[in-house]
Amino acid sequence: MQVIEDLESNVRSYSRSFPSIFSRARGSIMLTDDGRKIIDFLSGAGALNYGHNNHRIRAALTEYLASDAVIHGLDMATPAKLEFMKTFSSVILKERDLQYRFQFTGPTGANAIEAALKLSRKVTGRQNIISFTHGYHGMSLGAIAASGSRFYRTASGVSLSGTTFMPYDGYLGSALDTADYLRTILLDESSGIDYPAAILVETVQGEGGINVARREWLQSVQAIAKAVGALFIVDDIQMGCGRTGEFFSFEFAALSPDIVVLSKSLSGYGLPLSMLLIKEEFDAWRPGEHTGTFRGNNLALVSAAAALDIYWRCRTFSRGVECMGSLMRRRLEAIASQHGNVFAVRGRGMVLGFDCRTTEIAETTTRKAFEKGLIIERCGPVDQVVKFLPALTIDSDTLNQGLEIFEEALTETLKQTKLAVS
Ligand SMILES: *Cc1c(COP(=O)(O)O)cnc(C)c1O
Repeated sequence: MQVIEDLESNVRSYSRSFPSIFSRARGSIMLTDDGRKIIDFLSGAGALNYGHNNHRIRAALTEYLASDAVIHGLDMATPAKLEFMKTFSSVILKERDLQYRFQFTGPTGANAIEAALKLSRKVTGRQNIISFTHGYHGMSLGAIAASGSRFYRTASGVSLSGTTFMPYDGYLGSALDTADYLRTILLDESSGIDYPAAILVETVQGEGGINVARREWLQSVQAIAKAVGALFIVDDIQMGCGRTGEFFSFEFAALSPDIVVLSKSLSGYGLPLSMLLIKEEFDAWRPGEHTGTFRGNNLALVSAAAALDIYWRCRTFSRGVECMGSLMRRRLEAIASQHGNVFAVRGRGMVLGFDCRTTEIAETTTRKAFEKGLIIERCGPVDQVVKFLPALTIDSDTLNQGLEIFEEALTETLKQTKLAVS
């Protein structure tokens, strides 16, 4: 750790929250070099939906590596790429009656978001993007401009333009439907808000505090986008690939986004891979107009195809996620009710947030949890929400052990902290 303190930039973050050296990992367990076994409820911020070093997926990777197949080929055609596209198309799209073109972008989610925003602006000839309070879309300037966090926005050092923020579902309390407000503003010829090129939304805000949008709200926002000639973009980077139960987080609302942004768990193995799904009529790119050296990383395409093949050919996996998700939810709700329901539990599928209401309670709880053997992260505007993001493949014993540790850590924290709730 001294090497890190001496040599790595001050910007480092997770090595501060989890100050150990992690040498091995398998499934939902990480091993430290001093022999501790730690349960992982962070899962690479959602990049490891199928767990660490998933051996079924790894078999495809090792075979590919040993065969001298092409690892880097820019965006040239390779059997790995063809196989991935065929598999995604048949296993995911055809099964859901969806039709999209694929755009492989640079490896990060932010890169894919940039491409989605750029394409929307190109298609519509408009500049403005509507995004939502507490939204998070990545660290490049276009993506930060669409993200709420003042902390990140301030760090950009330039003015962030081209976006208008609207209140997310529930932002103004349950009595006010913020989709009505959005509609009023956009249909009013004198509201002061420019017609948007796109409306960009997360169905559950991951970094923003596990805020869950209702089905009706999402449907209204999609209809409003259509009514004003804007593209409707779902950022499914963190909530996609099964996190909420179904492959896409918007299936429950029967949405039909014009662009879907995927990254994080798309490769199935924690390898970088990002992709846009674009409705054919909006595929207005000229060849090479949005490019990048690391597009459609072949190794990641191999693991991505393997993950689809192993987990998504039938409904069993989805049902398992829903089942484990409700197990988690019941347990967290029981914990909340033991403490007089001052804490809220929110989420869908296997992404749940336990809102501790204060930064201090959440911070102390997650620190104690790590000391007891659980990696768990915080989110929300002041990092007051403990975020449960276990691998979708976790077994119920490990899940229960992790929840047990959280409960102990919370109880100890509350013994020593005075809850000062506003
Ligand atoms: C992580 C994330 C991003 C950014 O992805 P990076 O790979 O970190 O650039 C964008 N949107 C959402 C919803 C995310 O969770």
